[in-house]
Amino acid sequence: MQGLLMSESAPRSLHDLGFDGIAAELTASGVSTHHTKALWRALQREGELDLASRDFLPPLKAWVEKHVGHGKDFFLDDPPIVEEIRSSDGLTRKYLLKLNDGQIIETVLMGYDGRYTACISSQAGCAMGCVFCATGQMGFVRHLRPGEIIAQVLHVQRIIRRDLPGKRLRNLVFMGMGEPLHNYDSVMHALQAISDVRGIGIGPSFISVSTVGVVPAILRMAEEQRPYNLAVSLHGSNEEERSSLIPVSRKWPLADLVAACRAYGRITGRRILFGWTLIAGKNDSAETAHRLVELLKGIDSHINLIPLNPTGGFAGSPAATAAAREFQRIIRAAGIACTFRQRRGIDVAAGCGQLKADRRKLAS
Ligand code: SAH
Ligand code: SF4
Repeated sequence: MQGLLMSESAPRSLHDLGFDGIAAELTASGVSTHHTKALWRALQREGELDLASRDFLPPLKAWVEKHVGHGKDFFLDDPPIVEEIRSSDGLTRKYLLKLNDGQIIETVLMGYDGRYTACISSQAGCAMGCVFCATGQMGFVRHLRPGEIIAQVLHVQRIIRRDLPGKRLRNLVFMGMGEPLHNYDSVMHALQAISDVRGIGIGPSFISVSTVGVVPAILRMAEEQRPYNLAVSLHGSNEEERSSLIPVSRKWPLADLVAACRAYGRITGRRILFGWTLIAGKNDSAETAHRLVELLKGIDSHINLIPLNPTGGFAGSPAATAAAREFQRIIRAAGIACTFRQRRGIDVAAGCGQLKADRRKLAS
């Protein structure tokens, strides 16, 4: 009866199931949970896409044959590459991946100083509407499932294995398309799998979740003791400055956001990375820098300055070099770490959501 029900329901992604979820499925089919590790290892560590070809022990092999594949209970997430673009220095590769419903997301592999980082997406589009961001300009389409998040990491790993033998993926950042803390459950579920040492095994301290400032979710991360790094995109040091760039700042005001960051730092003892996209005449003045220093007093902070990548829907321009240097000087003089984000690979439209936006423009 259960078998009948399962085959009648819509197929589900095997990548959506965590280790325990897979164990539960095997148990439900009368297969010993001892086989979970082998299946998990093939799926998550080796990124296997052809499970039927594997030399599993007979009970697991039979389960895979019966339940996984076209027209069966489970499928694997493997979004095909629609386009690959490499930066001229070869250090950045950007992939447009097509999801099952046709949505296109971006996944980026960056390799600086022999360290490889995957920059992945958490949503198709984004609901937060930041005025300078190409993804924000597209609007929200939908959340990604855990399997669609994990599949991006497996994709990057496959590329490294194929083209960069002996290298491994070290870091993971949610700085692609979407707001990860707006898709909290799927992102946390995916991260549990991604950091599992029996599978992909990226250390939690090498994983960063970047948020525009979803206050309740920041507090939840702290309360749940999630072991990942937090990056907060600030971009403004008073409410007026910030909400002119980030409309959702009206929902989660700057004062509440800073209070949440303070609580996060206190509970976790971790330093917070604050992202600051420098925009000429908007948020690059010495006055703003001084106010920022005041705002972050008592929070263990690192400020990451990001030059604006111009986008079609926003008329602003990047801060001039002199203003950017002065901004950095003021912050450093107050004893706060402040660096410029490397933007090698800007020639592949490194800004979030930009490549997809460019393609759309070309298509219309
Ligand atoms: N939604 C999350 C993560 C994705 S955006 C967030 O906003 O933090 C990742 C980073 O890229 C953010 O700091 C964002 O402000 C920045 N960003 C987006 N568009 C940009 C642009 N056009 N130029 C420079 N930085 C941009
Ligand atoms: Fe969304 Fe981040 Fe872009 Fe803002 S900057 S619209 S939160 S992806």
